Amino acid sequence: MSSEVKSVLDHHPSYEAVIGIEVHIQLKTKSKIFCSCPNHFGQEPNTNICPVCTGHPGTLPVLNKTVVDYAIMAALATNSTVARTCGFARKHYMYPDLPKNYQITQADVPICSDGYIPIQCADGSEKKVRLIRIHMEEDAGKNIHGMAGKSWVDLNRAGTPLLEVVTHPDISSTYEARAYLMNLHTLIKYLGISDVNMEEGSFRADINISMRKKGETKFGTRVELKNINSFKFIAQATEHEMSRQIEMLENGERIKQETRLWDTKHQKTVFMRSKEESQDYRYLTEPDLPAIQIDDAWLERIRHMIPELPYNKSRRFQDEYTLSANDAEILVSEIAIARFFEQAARISNKPKQTSNWILRDLLAYLKEHKLELEQTKLTAQALAELVVALDKGVINSKVGQEIFIEMIQTGKGADCIIKEKNLEQIDSVGALEPIIIKIIQDNADNVAKYKAGNDRLFPFFVGQAMKATGGKGNPVLIQELLKKHLG
Ligand SMILES: [Zn+2]
Repeated sequence: MSSEVKSVLDHHPSYEAVIGIEVHIQLKTKSKIFCSCPNHFGQEPNTNICPVCTGHPGTLPVLNKTVVDYAIMAALATNSTVARTCGFARKHYMYPDLPKNYQITQADVPICSDGYIPIQCADGSEKKVRLIRIHMEEDAGKNIHGMAGKSWVDLNRAGTPLLEVVTHPDISSTYEARAYLMNLHTLIKYLGISDVNMEEGSFRADINISMRKKGETKFGTRVELKNINSFKFIAQATEHEMSRQIEMLENGERIKQETRLWDTKHQKTVFMRSKEESQDYRYLTEPDLPAIQIDDAWLERIRHMIPELPYNKSRRFQDEYTLSANDAEILVSEIAIARFFEQAARISNKPKQTSNWILRDLLAYLKEHKLELEQTKLTAQALAELVVALDKGVINSKVGQEIFIEMIQTGKGADCIIKEKNLEQIDSVGALEPIIIKIIQDNADNVAKYKAGNDRLFPFFVGQAMKATGGKGNPVLIQELLKKHLG
């Protein structure tokens, strides 16, 4: 992320934003949280259900232990405290997609508390966004509102395991909100406990925003932004909501506590529902599930499953390979890319050039062809050979581009392609000078024009020389020789 961050706050320096974020993460377990139905997305409505997840009377939930494993992973990766004893509670409310009329969640004692996620602020400084809690719960079904005022209920999603991650209101700008969400997203992806697919709803963020004058200690009335399914829209909605609230406060209006949605078409937040009256959910301890006891052995087993985390990896890449924060952040955002970079950088011993090839050429290629790195044939060894060949001047950069594409498509190494196709750069004066002299002889007209002052013809001569060398001439040397012979 660049340092040029434009925000509505720049125009209203007397205001500050107070932002807290709640994220619901669907876990990638084989089965649902309290029954043995498969945990799959995208099936025909109401085909992936059983009496337990549809809330039939007399059925009993049985906890999926993997959900607890994943919650502990999230706890350890976010510096949280794991509750050694915790349980579930019933949160009562009536909604058609919740046939039991209560959701099984965690109340007073969540499995994780008091963690934090570090972020890098716009000015490069580090900030810890504190987490109030991470708790386990079940997802509800889905209401589908159709034509002619009719609605349907699909319970496939009911009972999908969720982690809810709740921050303190520590975030004070759109930049930080985005940095926090991206860090959490990457972190969960690294742990491999969720698909974190925002479009499919497996990573859903609710943003709570209030504004106040700088120096005030009391919080303003907060507005919740819900159901926004991309980082870009979240940033746009946050900016819009801050400016809407500042305008109201400037006009002496009262902010109402409500939930708002993002209207992508009109680029504004719109009213969804009022939250002025707080609901009483009548929490009670879930009597059908025993308390969970987590001992040292369980914690240790999970601790061994945690890989190097993205934030630490990014810091290490910046130190060890002298990469910029921005470059390191992009490299670590996909674990496969980070691993690939590190392998290639170690072989080539040229981390900066290796990172350039990945950030500029490889990512562009993957995006253009809609591919993952694993779907190409490119190896770290091949990329390292290319970086070294360019660095030593064995090939020129134009040839390098062609070799790169061939490596991706064939899996061959750069050294092998250079040999097979005889692509070594022609960079001896002895080889290039006769070619230059011949070009000057063959193009007397243009030489005359050039000598009469038409400097723009110079690239024409360079092009002729590159053509005559089959693209393999050393461009720097060609230019030197041309200048010498053109006078
Ligand atoms: Zn079920």
